[in-house]
Amino acid sequence: MDTRLIFEQVETLEEKIGHLYKELGGLKEQLVAILEENSQLMLENQHLRERLERMKQEGTSKGSISQPKKLPGEAYDNLARLYEEGFHVCNLHYGSLRKEGDCLFCLEFLNRQIKEDE
Ligand SMILES: [Zn+2]
Repeated sequence: MDTRLIFEQVETLEEKIGHLYKELGGLKEQLVAILEENSQLMLENQHLRERLERMKQEGTSKGSISQPKKLPGEAYDNLARLYEEGFHVCNLHYGSLRKEGDCLFCLEFLNRQIKEDE
């Protein structure tokens, strides 16, 4: 029996197991990230549903939801509050969490609304 050959095979197998172990660690990290993102999205979704419900109620009581350009004061307040709570209100990322501080698109959108109100 060629013991050297067996030894080489054992070494190769050891190397393969090492790679697999690393791969498994990577997958585990990805899984954790996905789970975190998932719970964040669930929270965000719940948040938005509540907001939407409130905005709908305020919108129908005023009958002004179909006006696309100028927002009524209350709707504007809602969006401003949503923004302050850390969500995007701009067309690009509407409803998603603001992760990098202020968003220029959101600010521009909110500023435009103020100007049209004046
Ligand atoms: Zn934004």
